[in-house]
Amino acid sequence: MAAPANRSAHRELHARLLRELPAERLITDPLRCLAWGGDASFYRLVPQLIVVIDSEAELLTVLTHARELKTPLTFRAAGTSLSGQAISDSVLVMLGDGWRGCRVGEGGWTISLQPAVIGAAANRRLAPFHRKIGPDPASIDAAMIGGIAANNASGMCCGTAQNSYRTLEAMRVVLADGTVLDSADVASRASLHITRPELIDGLSQLAREVRDDRALADRIRHKFRIKNTTGYSLNALVDHEDPIDIFTHLMIGSEGTLGFISEITYRTVPDHAHKASALILFDELATACRAVTLLKSCPVDAVELADRAALRSVQGKPGLPASLAEVGPDGAALLVETRAADAATLAQQIATLEAVLGTVRTHEPPRFSTDPAECARYWAVRKGMFPSVGAMRETGTTVIIEDVAFPVERLADATLDLQMLLRAHSYDEAIIFGHALEGNLHFVFTQSFDDPAEVQRYARFMDAVADLVVGKYDGSLKAEHGTGRNMAPFVEMEWGAQATALMRRIKRLFDPAGLLNPGVILNDDPQAHLANLKPLPAADPIVDKCIECGFCEPKCPSRGLTLSPRQRIVGWREIARVERETKTPAVELRGLYDHAGIDTCAACGLCATACPVGIETGLLIKALRGRAASPLAKRVASTVASNFGAVTAGVRVGLGAADLLHAVVGTKAMKGALDGVRSLSGGRIPKWSPALARPVHFVAPKAAGFGSGVPLVYFPSCAARNMGPQRGDGDAVAMPAVAERLFRKAGFDVIYPRELAQLCCGQPFESKGLADAADAKSAELEAALREASDGDRHPIVFDTSPCTWRMKRFLAGRLDVRDSVEFIHDEVLPRVTLVPQAAPVAVHPVCSLRKMGSADKLAAIAARCSAQVVTVDDVQCCGFAGDRGFTHPELNEHALRHLKPALPSGCSAGYSSSRTCEIGLSEMAGMPYRSIIQLVEACAK
Ligand SMILES: Cc1cc2nc3c(=O)[nH]c(=O)nc-3n(C[C@H](O)[C@H](O)[C@H](O)COP(=O)(O)OP(=O)(O)OC[C@H]3O[C@@H](n4cnc5c(N)ncnc54)[C@H](O)[C@@H]3O)c2cc1C
Ligand code: SF4
Ligand code: SF4
Repeated sequence: MAAPANRSAHRELHARLLRELPAERLITDPLRCLAWGGDASFYRLVPQLIVVIDSEAELLTVLTHARELKTPLTFRAAGTSLSGQAISDSVLVMLGDGWRGCRVGEGGWTISLQPAVIGAAANRRLAPFHRKIGPDPASIDAAMIGGIAANNASGMCCGTAQNSYRTLEAMRVVLADGTVLDSADVASRASLHITRPELIDGLSQLAREVRDDRALADRIRHKFRIKNTTGYSLNALVDHEDPIDIFTHLMIGSEGTLGFISEITYRTVPDHAHKASALILFDELATACRAVTLLKSCPVDAVELADRAALRSVQGKPGLPASLAEVGPDGAALLVETRAADAATLAQQIATLEAVLGTVRTHEPPRFSTDPAECARYWAVRKGMFPSVGAMRETGTTVIIEDVAFPVERLADATLDLQMLLRAHSYDEAIIFGHALEGNLHFVFTQSFDDPAEVQRYARFMDAVADLVVGKYDGSLKAEHGTGRNMAPFVEMEWGAQATALMRRIKRLFDPAGLLNPGVILNDDPQAHLANLKPLPAADPIVDKCIECGFCEPKCPSRGLTLSPRQRIVGWREIARVERETKTPAVELRGLYDHAGIDTCAACGLCATACPVGIETGLLIKALRGRAASPLAKRVASTVASNFGAVTAGVRVGLGAADLLHAVVGTKAMKGALDGVRSLSGGRIPKWSPALARPVHFVAPKAAGFGSGVPLVYFPSCAARNMGPQRGDGDAVAMPAVAERLFRKAGFDVIYPRELAQLCCGQPFESKGLADAADAKSAELEAALREASDGDRHPIVFDTSPCTWRMKRFLAGRLDVRDSVEFIHDEVLPRVTLVPQAAPVAVHPVCSLRKMGSADKLAAIAARCSAQVVTVDDVQCCGFAGDRGFTHPELNEHALRHLKPALPSGCSAGYSSSRTCEIGLSEMAGMPYRSIIQLVEACAK
């Protein structure tokens, strides 16, 4: 194992890399080292240097210097690992945008993926072929291919037959000494024999030894009959003879300790459209486990077991049967899914399963449902079991999920033993669930690590778990989450000295200097699982339930620029801890947090849509902004709120002046000059964008009385009333005038609320944490809408989604406000004839539209207006965030960096439902983005 590198080696590494990589990809500040450095496990190591690499060439550079300076490296994909394998106190090598390559093979039968592709994104590429990748961890929406392969992650359906090990077609690997192997390339395979003969010979020798030792070979085969990620994938030594095939299969599950996976090609598996699920209740756990053994030989794709405590944790959740409450105290449930290529086969499979299940005593007759919504609810509840414990835990404790596997025929006894063990160690809140077909059980419990007695309780419990799983059942201590630091001290206990010695030889063959992820998988410290435990101190009730899983990260526009939601929480927890312990302000961390945590959060709330415990990190940030606002800022906000019409008139003057200058000096000169001024001001002067709106002044027509149409209250937002199209995008017509034309074509008579110029939903104030001013504006608007709608008698439509979302939450059902996207989709389209245009269009569902669940409606509307509609999956929040795109344009630029390359040729316009977001989208896409209302109006005859 490499000696721990000293600080001067890291400083020297940093200095050398500064000469070869962009400085912004070398991170040493204490906030980001801490916050980017964490993973989803309950261990913490803080790297001394983080390097973001974009190519194999950059990796080779890092490896060269790290070898010379003996500085250990840990590779990082999405950091959702649970066993402490993705953290480092040395150098963390993170994947930048250069690792998102994806090639789908002919017919979707294979897929070649670079390591930073998110698992779910790979499946989206395969969906048109009705195929998917085999591995299916519950974390697939966040976990990346590098981590999925290096952990040999698996989930509810993939079992041992469709994991990365079994579906591996080819791999490209970079070793610690800089050797590159591409197993799909004959020349590269041949070259490895010449450049690394000792590795080839060593692997061949290991395989020979194992095959010659029948008992050892049988033991290895036996252990991989069930899921196993304890130690290395020794099955490579018995399943393969070619040393290069042994090499690539050993890489699976090697947790970054043998080499870097720079591309992997998977054979894909079918993704059948026809599915049925049944939630089957049992009064005795033993009967449920007996049913599992019967189901093993049936056409099932997933069988999930939940013990009584697990069921109790989700009892009463929407979509679950009321009979759940009647299940006896020792009961359990099985959630079963069966899939088929066509409906007739599915029906046959259901009949077979019902017949088999009819032979065991269930609480009520099993019923399979083919209703996708009902099935989705069952599976959502199952996926929510781990977080449900996390959400219930006491602040300051951590939630631990363990991951063991037993021979499936002994599942009933093993589960009962596990329940007893948990009780014996006073983990009364613990629940057990898991992938029963594979004998893979997860048990989840809460644990405090801030008291040595508690650490000792955990230590005694883990020893007892190891005795039970290994001693009594000869099972796996890690079935799918990887050995990490958590099970490294138990590898020899599970595998025995002989097999563990093989693992040590494998590590030496690949990485003789012990540079890669030391301490993971193999660790000489018998107490390694009790070291470097992560504190989870109370920081703020808004985020205290965070389990640091990282599921929110792919949603966040500032991820990779400054901080992700998880990283904001980690940073804030640390500030709270330091200040509580030292009773002095954490000046340096706070200084860094102001920009990274607070200023560059778009407050979009998209993080909440992926969080299993429902945390919206943006609420923390808005609260912090509010707390930091000076009394003067609050007074100014209140004055602006009271004089809103005058202030927006002033904004129009500013927009007019900017537009006039733009017209006179042209885009290039204007941009050059104003970028220079902004730079000289140290970023204090807001950015000018060539896509900036021209001013318009929409004045609501005087009420003309009702015609023959249906009355409709229309609230145009302040942005829509004052910000017209960008220069060069047609006449400066106010969007509300277009919307009114469309509503009239659809047979509606438009009513505007009174005193329109003064009205605002409060969103601009809310996003700055100025809650009082925001609520005052919302209340004023509520009164105006109530009056205009004659007490909610007429539909109320907003044209700007963030405003709709703000008012929906403020009104809490007191008035029914509808977003234009929803209203056009549901009410306008059926009433107009559309003549679609030939040109492709892009759509961007803004965050509030996503949160309202109407993103699909935007695409559906556009699909009625154009033959080709593109939604760029890589773009979530645009990062413009009202006016933040002017004050912190780097957020918008970062959030939209993948937009332009993803647009199809011939696409010359995009559509959305928020004027300010459209400014940033237009600039970054190099084409105008407009309101979807304009597209529909142009096509509606
Ligand atoms: C709530 C929750 C549920 C989960 N459910 C499951 C589940 O159902 N099944 C399951 O198996 N796991 C599960 N996990 C664990 C984890 O999400 C998976 O193992 C996942 O595959 C890890 O991927 P990652 O991208 O986060 O990798 P990371 O955590 O970043 O890295 C994982 C390991 O891979 C190494 N690595 C990363 N990139 C490379 C590379 N390019 N080359 C070589 N090594 C590399 C790292 O050094 C590390 O050792 C869950 C985690 C959470 C938080
Ligand atoms: S905020 Fe939610 S999704 Fe994000 S890390 Fe915390 S628990 Fe996970
Ligand atoms: S609110 Fe938006 S920008 Fe802020 S942390 Fe959440 S996802 Fe990121």
